Amino acid sequence: MLETDYLIIGGGATAMAFVDTLLTETEQDQILIVDRNHQPGGHWNQAYPFVRLHQPSSFYGVSSTELSKGIKDQVGFNAGFFELASGAAVKAYFDDVMRHRFLPSGRVQYFPMCNYEGDGKFKSLLTGKEEHVKVNKKIVDTTYLQTRIPATHTPNFTVAKEVPFIPINELVHIQEPPEGFVVIGGGKTGMDACVWLLDNQVPAERITWIVPRDSWLLDRKTTQPSQEFFESTVGNMAAQFESVVQAASIPDLFNRLEENGVLTRIDQNVRPSMFHGATVCETELEMLRSIEKVVRMGRVQSIAADQIILDQGSIPTTPHHLHIDCTASAISNLEITPVFQDGRIIPQTVRSYQPLFSASLIAYIEAKFDSEQEKNALCQVVPLPNHDTDWIKMLTIFMMNQYSWNQHKSIRKWLLGNRLDGFSQLLAKADRHDPVKQAIIKRMRDNIMPAMMKLQQFMQELA
Ligand SMILES: Cc1cc2nc3c(=O)[nH]c(=O)nc-3n(C[C@H](O)[C@H](O)[C@H](O)COP(=O)(O)OP(=O)(O)OC[C@H]3O[C@@H](n4cnc5c(N)ncnc54)[C@H](O)[C@@H]3O)c2cc1C
Repeated sequence: MLETDYLIIGGGATAMAFVDTLLTETEQDQILIVDRNHQPGGHWNQAYPFVRLHQPSSFYGVSSTELSKGIKDQVGFNAGFFELASGAAVKAYFDDVMRHRFLPSGRVQYFPMCNYEGDGKFKSLLTGKEEHVKVNKKIVDTTYLQTRIPATHTPNFTVAKEVPFIPINELVHIQEPPEGFVVIGGGKTGMDACVWLLDNQVPAERITWIVPRDSWLLDRKTTQPSQEFFESTVGNMAAQFESVVQAASIPDLFNRLEENGVLTRIDQNVRPSMFHGATVCETELEMLRSIEKVVRMGRVQSIAADQIILDQGSIPTTPHHLHIDCTASAISNLEITPVFQDGRIIPQTVRSYQPLFSASLIAYIEAKFDSEQEKNALCQVVPLPNHDTDWIKMLTIFMMNQYSWNQHKSIRKWLLGNRLDGFSQLLAKADRHDPVKQAIIKRMRDNIMPAMMKLQQFMQELA
């Protein structure tokens, strides 16, 4: 029988960020990772070939090991902003972290190509050999959120045999130009497919884009982790608080968020009802706006040889059109559950849009605090957003968590040293004599408490 202190189910990015911090913050604890994949990184192993991080590399990955090259893109849609690692780079990075940090520590046992079957048991997918693990401390289940990507999910509509239909991953293997491309899915994956086609000289007229719901989007300008972008990054946080404080109603809040550059959208004539935290930059928005054949008739129900049936009607198609599946929802389990549960840890987001920072913080709290009650109080789950108004719930819990962390000197210090927390460092390093930066910080600080009170009011309206 194998023995460990922490048994980690899954070897994706969440597991990697959690284990990295546990290794740093504890001295002796032994860790055992079981994962179905052949190498760490989870869904990045099956990601589409042209996928990139949606956020700058500098605050993605594990805290101990830099992912970013510290450079800005000079070409492409992200030009002028900090680089977004490619999927291949993210995969190679996690492999390096496993080989050069985790395994040499002598504290990590890694079982790739194994399926965890519950009750401390797992089985090799190659040999069928079953292993039992005696867990001295906790089981950490990083599979709870059930990340889905087009390559591994089953679409919830039917497709006639003669219709060319591929997941986004297969786009790069096209050998014969189709008459047209039908991109199915209005989320970030659908946007990536459209941008990639346009970037590869496909005329916008040859793209039909099926968008069941429009989304509010985040502007990548507001996520740049350097002093040079202080105004757009920290200024964005100040603008969020101000928008909340000044809003007369929830619809008015969204108007203000848009006016203040916190949220953006593709089509000014369509009010979004969805919010998944997808991040884009202005160049991508312009490219997406060039597509005129946008179909807003609900979800696809079926694709026949000559038509696509949607919830609210149908559109013509042909077997000479290529249909591209971008309908997988990245996170399929939106139900929240306490992070710390009697012998189990279920990592979820404790800071908006930051699953890996969250996993790292949860590991720190696990290592440094004693009672489950206190740990859960410090790690309230920030719900993953789906509808537009989820933005309000996210900000509310995010602010409550940040407030709780700030009450502990040790956590404040830890945050400043954590690579995945670009924001705290940006604030701490702001030049005290720079009037512009100090004015932004003041706007932010002045509005924190009024914003928290107003958010409570909006939360009651939503309840
Ligand atoms: C295209 C895309 C781009 C993204 N970009 C960003 C970004 O820029 N920034 C950001 O913060 N987030 C981003 N995300 C969010 C992303 O989900 C997280 O960053 C992260 O990669 C999720 O990792 P995970 O470990 O939670 O899940 P997964 O990657 O799904 O890993 C879970 C692992 O558990 C394994 N597993 C499941 N069940 C079992 C079992 N029974 N036994 C053994 N193993 C099991 C799976 O095989 C998998 O390897 C992106 C997501 C997608 C889909």
